[in-house]
Amino acid sequence: MYTNVSQGAYLFQGNTLVLPDSIPDPRIYEPVPRDRIQDSFGDVEILAIPGVYKGGYIPCADLTPDRALPPGWRGINTRRALSLIAADAVADGSGPAGRLLRAYHIVQWRRESVFCGSCGSRNEDKPHELARICPVCSRHEYPRISPAIIVLIINNRGKALLAHNKNFTPGVYSLIAGFNEAGETLEATVVREVREEVGLEVGHIRYMTSQPWPFPNSLMLGFIARHAGGAIKVDGVEIEDARWFDRDRLPDLPGKGSVSRYLINLWIGGAL
Ligand SMILES: [Zn+2]
Repeated sequence: MYTNVSQGAYLFQGNTLVLPDSIPDPRIYEPVPRDRIQDSFGDVEILAIPGVYKGGYIPCADLTPDRALPPGWRGINTRRALSLIAADAVADGSGPAGRLLRAYHIVQWRRESVFCGSCGSRNEDKPHELARICPVCSRHEYPRISPAIIVLIINNRGKALLAHNKNFTPGVYSLIAGFNEAGETLEATVVREVREEVGLEVGHIRYMTSQPWPFPNSLMLGFIARHAGGAIKVDGVEIEDARWFDRDRLPDLPGKGSVSRYLINLWIGGAL
C-alpha cells in the first residue's frame, strides 16, 4: 500500500462514507481533499489501493469508530450514498461509483483481516499485491468476494416473476436472489434459490451481467431464466409475496443502478 498520496481520499467510518459539508450529496463521489482530512483528523493513514479499470490508485482512509465527527462533517450510509450517484454510473462500475465501491470493499476487508485466520498472528500487507500475509505461517488473505445470483424469470405469456422480500421497502418487488454455495455451479444456484423461495422450476438459464456489491462483499451475477414448471409457492421466510407481472402493470421497483433494475428494464424494453 502506498501512503504518499497528494490528492484527496475517500473517508469511511464503519459502514458510512464521511464527507465535509462542502461536498454536497450529488457529488459524494468526489474524494475529500487531503488537507481537509489532515486539518480535522490529523495523521489518519491514507491508503492508495490499485484501481482496476483505468489503472492509477484509489486513495481511501478508515476512521476508527470512536472518533467523533467534528462540526462541518457528516456520515452517509455507503449503500444509500450510491443511490445518490447517477444510476448508469453505478451499473457501469468503471466510473466514480465503481471506485467508491472498490474503496469501500477494500477498507472493510482490511478492517477484518488484521489477524491471521490460521495462527492468530498479526497480518502484514504484502508488497506489490493486494493481499495480507501472516509473517509466522505465510498464510495469504485476499479480499473476500462472495458470488450471488439474481435472476429474472419469464413465463410463456411474457410475464416476469417479481417478489417482495421481507427486508424490502413496503410495496417494492424485485428479483429472486441468493448466495452461491460451496461446490455449486451458478446455474445450480439459480435453480435451487428459485425452487426454495418461490417453488418454481426454471430452465434456459442465461448469464447477462454482473455488479460488485460490497454489502458486505457480494458479486451479483445477473441471469435470465424461463419458467419450466410449478406454481408460485413463497417460502414465507425471506419471500412474503411473489407474482407474475405484465410490463404495463408493475409494482414499485428496486432503485436505478441496481443489477435487478437493469434486468427488469431490459424486459420492460422488450429486449428479453
Ligand atoms: Zn498465521
